[in-house]
Amino acid sequence: MTLNSPDKFVGEGATEPFADIAPAEADTIAARHGTPTFVYDEARFSASAEALRRTWEAAFPNSSIYLSYKTNYLPSLCRTAHLLGLGADVVSGYELEHALLLCQGKPVVFNGPMKRREELVRAVQAGVVVNIDLLEEVDILAELRRAGEIPEPRLGLRVSPGLPVFTSADQSFTQAHRERQRTGKFGWPLDGGLAAAAAAWIAEKGFSIRSLHAHLNSQITETDLHVAALRPVLDFARELRAAKAPLEEINVGGGFGVPGMQRQRRGWWSECKAHMGETPPESDEQVFDMTRFVAELRSEIAARKLDDLRVSCEPGRYLMSDCIALLSRVAGIKDLPERRWAVLDAGLHIMPTAAFGERRRLRFFRADKELPVRTDAPLASLGGPLCYEGDVLMASARVPGGLMAGDLVLISDAGAYTVSRSTNFNQARAAVVARNGADGREIWRRESYHDIFTFNVTE
Ligand SMILES: *Cc1c(COP(=O)(O)O)cnc(C)c1O
Repeated sequence: MTLNSPDKFVGEGATEPFADIAPAEADTIAARHGTPTFVYDEARFSASAEALRRTWEAAFPNSSIYLSYKTNYLPSLCRTAHLLGLGADVVSGYELEHALLLCQGKPVVFNGPMKRREELVRAVQAGVVVNIDLLEEVDILAELRRAGEIPEPRLGLRVSPGLPVFTSADQSFTQAHRERQRTGKFGWPLDGGLAAAAAAWIAEKGFSIRSLHAHLNSQITETDLHVAALRPVLDFARELRAAKAPLEEINVGGGFGVPGMQRQRRGWWSECKAHMGETPPESDEQVFDMTRFVAELRSEIAARKLDDLRVSCEPGRYLMSDCIALLSRVAGIKDLPERRWAVLDAGLHIMPTAAFGERRRLRFFRADKELPVRTDAPLASLGGPLCYEGDVLMASARVPGGLMAGDLVLISDAGAYTVSRSTNFNQARAAVVARNGADGREIWRRESYHDIFTFNVTE
């Protein structure tokens, strides 16, 4: 499969993920590997990674793209990305080890709100760029350096512009979002001089800042707001330059939104309306436009004469979301007087972010037939198998009229924050199967009873 457009989501050549999966293929995968199972389309992932690299490199000849490991750490997927020239963005010790193994010869960047002493040693010794988030990290590094335990570290500083990146028809959402952007735990606020103070602290300890890092949020679809929020970051880069910092890189993080998954952006006001039986307003869904983002970012960088800097990003969801779908089986239908439930064998233990009011495309299969969903099809709540009320994959979705136990449901955009965020609360974690002709090749096995209890220490 090829994607003709440099931007897989906008314009000609954009393709629906898994549009080409035949009911018989889904049926065979389910029969052979069981359900729930994540189905991975490697060709789509490669095409996406390659398209992004082409777009990014055309705008920024000096650049790095770091794959966000926390979004999905499947070795097969990470390896494919690295073969295509992408580096790794890690946020923990085990991800760092994973990257040092899988991502040799490509750049690795160490992010995250908390880094342990031994992880800092390991990263610096391996030549990994460490993006400072806590100033205590600087203190530890200074102490290690004084003791001669590490070479000169390559440091970046994570900053926070504190500007909104989402819009909503609901002002109560927008207000809460603005506050969260200003008060989050990540990075040093550019406003009020805290970022400058952090930079001064780093200089005082005898280190220099080589990279300026900002990662603003996730599933950002408002391209213009995203660029606008990066302007103060670029201004700060210019200040650091003026103060003679040997800055080499601007890293704009990830957060690029995808169209296959929509998040309800509602606050207390919408909740009240919904409780009163009124339909809260829906916000216009925007689609993140990578081509425009890159063009605008480039001109903002040029306007500040920062063109010689390496311009980097850390995509997670943008590359991974739509290359995996979740194949699940209907366990039963429960028709209550006021609600129809379709209970599936997949739940929030393997798709935890569905709890945040996300909507995804669904397809339904019975043996080798697709079950069509008409626009006037009945609404149902898709419940999962976990033993708590909140385990709902989708509160309200149109389902085929005759949906019944045994039918398959293919849930799109299951590649981001699923495998790596799965837990075994009530149920075992799911297998991942790569599309491979008719059946599918297992690349991550299903968790077993033995796996779950493997941590038990017997006396
Ligand atoms: C999670 C994360 C990313 C990836 O975010 P997406 O929204 O999946 O693109 C990138 N950088 C950092 C520092 C992160 O924590």
